[in-house]
Amino acid sequence: MVRIRSPREIALIEAANQIVARTLDMLEEHIQPGVSLLELDRLAEDFIRSQGARPAFKGYMGFPASLCISVDDEVVHGIPSKRTLEAGQIVGVDCGAEKDGYFGDSARTFPVGEVSPEKQQLMAVTRASLYKGIEQAVPGNFVSDIGHAVQSHVESYGYSVVRELVGHGIGTELHEDPQVPNYGAPKQGLRLKEGMCLAIEPMINAGRKEVYTASDGWTVRTRDGYPSAHFEHTIAIEKTGPRILSNGVAHG
Ligand code: MG
Ligand code: MG
Repeated sequence: MVRIRSPREIALIEAANQIVARTLDMLEEHIQPGVSLLELDRLAEDFIRSQGARPAFKGYMGFPASLCISVDDEVVHGIPSKRTLEAGQIVGVDCGAEKDGYFGDSARTFPVGEVSPEKQQLMAVTRASLYKGIEQAVPGNFVSDIGHAVQSHVESYGYSVVRELVGHGIGTELHEDPQVPNYGAPKQGLRLKEGMCLAIEPMINAGRKEVYTASDGWTVRTRDGYPSAHFEHTIAIEKTGPRILSNGVAHG
């Protein structure tokens, strides 16, 4: 069931997303060579709790941490560990928070020190594809128009869209209907309506689209070992079009 949210509920979803956005803003300055993934996770959890919220991922389906941190060929769902970041890596940080019964969910991919032009382009194109998808989230369009816009943009650079994982509705649950794939033909399936809240989250591989789940049961990695990037915003569909609820200060 796809829920339609009132302006009051959208304000509550926005409040949770603003905590997520400020967590990601805060983390950016700590993403440096030598920092451990566990340190980043602790910083995030402390900040989220200081805002009267709780980390939405911790304990979700048994996930052990507050952030999903995915490095280079890890696509999503990486578990923070003691390993440290190294210059030249790219790191996807996915963050969720629940406040007053409403959820926020957003992700960004960051460079660690200097990264190759190829990785810079992968991040820039993936981020741009998120905004191409968001542009389609207007009342009367179809949910598949979002994925079609994402896929068309990234495939024009020779990149590929992960099929196994998709965006989603969000509100009083972290994951709600509808599913929001990042690929597909336009004008299919559900019509978008004012009051729907969606987490749109392209996961884009520099190489081929195939992924697998590592032996830890969580981390999704590219089969060919090429890097992957992930950007995510939670949006509300309003009468005049999409409004991003998870915009930070550092990233418009
Ligand atoms: Mg997320
Ligand atoms: Mg999500």
